[in-house]
Amino acid sequence: MSQQPRIAIAIVGSGPIGATYARLLLEGIPGATVTMFEAGPRLTERPGASVRNIADPEARAKARELSQGPQAGGYRESIGIPAETVAEGTFTARQGTHLIDFGGPGAGHAASFPAAAVATNVGGQGAHWTCAVPRPAFSELIPFIPEPEWEDLIGEAERLIGATPDAFADSPVGTAIRSLLEEEFAGELPDGYGPGVLPVAGQENADGTMTWSGTDVVLGSLIEPGTELAARFELRDLTFVRRVEHRAGRATAVLVEDLRTGRRETVPADLIVVAADALRSPQLLWASGIRPRALGHYLTEHPVVISTVALDAAAMRRFATEEDLDRELARRAGNAVDPVSGVNRIPFSEPDHPFAAQIMYSETTPFPMEPGQPYAENRWGYVNMGYGLRKRPRFADAVTFDDDELDYRGMPNMTIHYALTDAELAEVEMATGLLRRAGGALGTFVAEPRLMPNGSSLHYQGTMRVGESEDGTSVADPWSRVWGFDNLLVGGNALIPTATAVNPTLMSIAIAVRGARRLVREHTTSGIAAGAPSYR
Ligand SMILES: Cc1cc2nc3c(=O)[nH]c(=O)nc-3n(C[C@H](O)[C@H](O)[C@H](O)COP(=O)(O)OP(=O)(O)OC[C@H]3O[C@@H](n4cnc5c(N)ncnc54)[C@H](O)[C@@H]3O)c2cc1C
Repeated sequence: MSQQPRIAIAIVGSGPIGATYARLLLEGIPGATVTMFEAGPRLTERPGASVRNIADPEARAKARELSQGPQAGGYRESIGIPAETVAEGTFTARQGTHLIDFGGPGAGHAASFPAAAVATNVGGQGAHWTCAVPRPAFSELIPFIPEPEWEDLIGEAERLIGATPDAFADSPVGTAIRSLLEEEFAGELPDGYGPGVLPVAGQENADGTMTWSGTDVVLGSLIEPGTELAARFELRDLTFVRRVEHRAGRATAVLVEDLRTGRRETVPADLIVVAADALRSPQLLWASGIRPRALGHYLTEHPVVISTVALDAAAMRRFATEEDLDRELARRAGNAVDPVSGVNRIPFSEPDHPFAAQIMYSETTPFPMEPGQPYAENRWGYVNMGYGLRKRPRFADAVTFDDDELDYRGMPNMTIHYALTDAELAEVEMATGLLRRAGGALGTFVAEPRLMPNGSSLHYQGTMRVGESEDGTSVADPWSRVWGFDNLLVGGNALIPTATAVNPTLMSIAIAVRGARRLVREHTTSGIAAGAPSYR
């Protein structure tokens, strides 16, 4: 019987992208073992599960706080963060995340991108996300990936994350919202790109509630005890990767620190994937002396214009009845912890609608309203509407690293340089106009449209772009391998090279599927362990 070559794979980061690599490489390479290193703690019994599925509010709050790295409150000590690094400042990170520029000792510098935040926990941001998974389109697509292959990659990404195209599609309130928006924008948008249901990652249950997909869904049978794949998979939480060791264009090991004990260890690996988010992955490469010119540069995100609208009873009654609403409210009462029960969108299209609009129906506003305040108790509820915009990639927008000033983890500290240009500001104005029209069609604004502070989208892209050639404008080749390395890959939203408005995770999973498939092909024919590691 022939012996399978053993291939030791190290993955940095346990978010959806690290999980995609772990799953596809273990499924595809019979001799492989994967060790996944995660700086944050495990939150849930099932590793990486969405905290939105935790029914008990206290347990849910604890899970979020545990993910908040240096900003965590009562649980801070349990994750090894010094007590004095308390968050201060104007901007509050979204629950489950912590600010880069948090104001305490060892904080990063992000005055021009003040809402920059990350999550530090098993499952990464994939344990906290909203689960919107629309497909990229038009100029958002990566030009050098052939269309038939892209269709296949994105289909596989949807399978891995458990995408559902028609969640809450039968909600009469959601349908009425779509109908009002269709009337407002009739004839202005290309066929197939009008108001529709937003695809989300999750499973709709028989009682109408959702089980939201977390990173656990991507990991699949790797976290089912007793399976063959689980036997080849190890997830080490509270383990921080300080450095990727390399020699002559080959990654050889990772230097890791157990955050519980402070013990450091060098773990050899045949193949290394860095998927530690769009700010900390380039930081790790920088700290490892891997510094392609584009590393950290071409930072983009989605400028976001948001507002909240109280739905107008008379307008809504043109498409739904009071009885429909009663039924909807009764269904919602069965799942009081999850305020969202209808997700609509107007997708990105060109040339006239370069925006991804998200319209979430909710019974309550995301901010407290005083009783007696107009629309404080609006029987038809509210929509929270956000228009996500694109940002053109520019070298000048960047996260840079300082070897002489260390952050709270002892890594080269970050400074973020970022500015919106006239091109973005013109689109902010357009989006605000469209948002006013959409809101006017649906009801009355209880929060006026406003541009959120830079960094608010949490969709940071471009800092480790894929590119077709090694011309200084990209960090990785079309299969996500860092230029100059055969066995070091990067993953995540940082790889997206285009100006997008679409939520990025599905696209990033698709890019990771491409990288993983190529590795599987290579390792099941020649194979690193067989001594033939050339992929070019
Ligand atoms: C509240 C919220 C809502 C969101 N909504 C959406 C949405 O609706 N749709 C969408 O597409 N996207 C959404 N996102 C973004 C989405 O979650 C991310 O795109 C996705 O999680 C990125 O996956 P990733 O694996 O690249 O990185 P992450 O999920 O960020 O995981 C990276 C992991 O790496 C770990 N890490 C970092 N450095 C190190 C190190 N040196 N050593 C070890 N581990 C390290 C981190 O602790 C983290 O757990 C949302 C995010 C948040 C927080």
